[in-house]
Amino acid sequence: MNHHHQCPKKIPSKHLSDFCAFLADESKKIFFTLVELFYPSHCDGCGEAIFEKSRLCADCSKTLTLLSKNTCPICSYHLNSSNEIDTYCENCADRQLNFIAGVSTFSYQGLVRKFISQFKYRGDQSLIKVLGELLSVTLQDERLAGIHFQAIVPVPLHRNRERERGFNQARLLANKAGALLGCHVQDLLFRREPTVNQVHSDRSERIKNLKGAFKLKKNIPLSGNYLLIDDVLTTGATLDECAEVLRRAGADGVWAATVARS
Ligand SMILES: [Zn+2]
Ligand SMILES: [Zn+2]
Repeated sequence: MNHHHQCPKKIPSKHLSDFCAFLADESKKIFFTLVELFYPSHCDGCGEAIFEKSRLCADCSKTLTLLSKNTCPICSYHLNSSNEIDTYCENCADRQLNFIAGVSTFSYQGLVRKFISQFKYRGDQSLIKVLGELLSVTLQDERLAGIHFQAIVPVPLHRNRERERGFNQARLLANKAGALLGCHVQDLLFRREPTVNQVHSDRSERIKNLKGAFKLKKNIPLSGNYLLIDDVLTTGATLDECAEVLRRAGADGVWAATVARS
């Protein structure tokens, strides 16, 4: 056996290979740090290289349509006349909503619409990053400033729908909001009735379809303020229903935040 002869030679060579592996590891680390520095990520909108921390390049950011400053303070609906500042839209003038403000930032069109539908219907969960960025703008709205939220509550999907989709988009957005606001997320609600496709129903139909659609998961008394999260605010009927359940359970105030307003 030449085992004994090889042994002393093997030791340095093992050291050497360890050292080489160490060097390789270190240089890999350095390499990847350099890659992160100089090799950019890609814009979720156009795929162009970006060096900023954002998920959108400057050109794509410019295409986003912000809701005008002149929106209904309750439901963020665009008001036509500039004299209407501080007055409500015609929808809110004749209804008593259970949320104090439904805050939204972007108009549901262009890239925002594309991101939300690819996220929801094609299950492209990588878009949660850019949607989280967009939602963070909503969370900076002055209507939400200085409020301490007991919890952030996602608008639930019916369990069949959630199983089918594999996730609830509102829950993932709520997680982002929770991280941004330093607030925990609680799935307080569940949806009793499966969502009917409401694209073609008018406002009163939507409101009727949603009556009693949401319930509290556990019958525990609530107190303090809550922030509902959803992807899009349309008539506000869904958020209103959810807010009603929270209010009935004892919530003092309910606000809502969405990425977009359609
Ligand atoms: Zn871009
Ligand atoms: Zn309104």
